[in-house]
Parts: sequence; C-alpha cells; structure tokens
Amino acid sequence: MNRELKEIILQSSNIVFFGGAGVSTESNIPDFRSEEGLYRAKNKYGYSPEQMLSHSFYKKHTNLFFKYYKENMIFANAQPNDAHISLAKLEKEGRLKAVVTQNIDGLHQKAGSVKVHELHGSVHRNYCERCGKFYDMGYISNADNCEEDVPHCTCGAVIKPDVVLYEEPLNENTLRAAISAISKADTLIVGGTSLLVYPAAQLIDFFQGKTLVLINKTATPYDSRANLLIYDSIGKAMKYE
Ligand code: NAD
Repeated sequence: MNRELKEIILQSSNIVFFGGAGVSTESNIPDFRSEEGLYRAKNKYGYSPEQMLSHSFYKKHTNLFFKYYKENMIFANAQPNDAHISLAKLEKEGRLKAVVTQNIDGLHQKAGSVKVHELHGSVHRNYCERCGKFYDMGYISNADNCEEDVPHCTCGAVIKPDVVLYEEPLNENTLRAAISAISKADTLIVGGTSLLVYPAAQLIDFFQGKTLVLINKTATPYDSRANLLIYDSIGKAMKYE
C-alpha cells in the first residue's frame, strides 16, 4: 500500500470509499474512458456506448441493447482484485463504513464488502417489467431464456437489468444512503473514476471530513481538492496487508 495512504488509514475511524470503473480494470473489466476503454474501442454497431446504454435505445432497439449489454457489461468470471479485497478487509476491521460505487459488476460484494451503495445498480439483479419477478445474471445470459438476445420472464414479458441507463434517474434511497455515508466520513478515498459522470461525481461535494484521497491513473476535475493525490494503479496503491 502507498505509505502515506496507510498512515491516513491508520488514523481514520470512519472511512468511505467512492469508486468507479477503474476499480475493476485490474479484474479485466474494461472501463469507459481509459485507452482500452469502451469509448475508444471501435463499436461495430455504429452507435456510441451512451446511445446503446440509454433508456430510449433499450425501448426502441431492445435486442441490440441486450446484445451490446451482454458483450460489454457482463463478466461472469471476473474476480475481485487487491483494491476490492483491501476494502473488504478495512470494513471488517471497522475502519471503513461504506463503499459507494458507480460499478455494476458486484465485485465488492464478491470480495466480502457488506455495506455497498451501488449508485448505478447491478448486473446481478434483473426484474420482469410486468410482474416484477427477480432473475439472476445467469438466467438472462442463458440463450435458452432469450429470444434474439432479449430475456423473457415466465409470464412472457421482457426482463430488465436493474442498472441505471442513461436518461434514467438514480435510485433515491441509494443516493440518500450514499450521501449520508459520505457526509459522516472522516476520510474519503476516491478511486478509479474519471469523475465525469453526473450526478455521481457531485457526491464528493457532500464530504465534510478531514482527508480527501484521490487515486486514479489519470487527472480528474477534482485533483486540486485532494489532500493526497496518487496517480497509480488502484490495486497497487490500496493493497492492504
Ligand atoms: P471511467 O471509465 O469514466 O473512468 C475510469 C477512470 O479510472 C479513468 O480516469 C482511468 O484513468 C482510471 N483507471 C482505470 N484503471 C485504473 C486502475 N487500475 N487504477 C487507477 N485508475 C484507473 O469510469 P467511471 O468514472 O466509473 O464512469 C463510467 C461509468 O461506467 C460508471 O457510471 C459505471 O457505472 C460504468 N461502468 C461500470 C463498469 C463496471 O461495473 N466495472 C465498467 C465500465 C463502465
């Protein structure tokens, strides 16, 4: 772990972590805005990722939405990396009170984190649009449950992933819980996020504690606010033993 970060952690009793897609790149899940991110990759469908992951696209081109979603958002074999594992350990020790994440991959929970506020939902939760029946990720990935990539409920209606698409609002309860955790923290560690996605990025404004740590491979609009700024791999910077 980064030495200065470790000192801060050992002096903190209410740490909150706020992260994004960069937390999971070391688990081989691409982010959006890195060199290898989905925004730079050539999109064979001729639409931008923002278009394809929008509510209107989901409604209008449901089969193409699911084709893209399954190819780019579902990573059934991904495993937590050192960042996820360290955060789970800090929570067990009682130092870390919550993880607030923009990620939808469920890797924090897979690493053992319990208090996780998923601002953008999760690929692990899927609900029938008509009867509300729950389905896991395995069900919607299974081609036998789909017609032209679109998963269907036993009642016949389409199953929608519980992820927040572009044009959709964040879940109010999740947002409230995230704001509450951040506003009570003495240390906020922000990592693996370009801080360009709103309203998520604005959550930093609710921090009133002593130390803001920012860990990212590239610059963000919030760098000047950080008490400790680490331009490095988050897995390496956070590895906590
Ligand atoms: P982003 O792609 O905009 O930014 C990721 C940032 O992380 C970049 O600034 C990059 O330099 C940095 N980064 C990448 N790998 C890193 C590493 N190993 N160590 C340190 N920094 C690293 O991602 P965002 O800000 O989270 O916003 C994108 C949106 O995409 C989010 O809303 C999120 O829901 C969604 N998304 C989620 C996943 C996922 O669940 N794993 C994957 C892709 C996109």
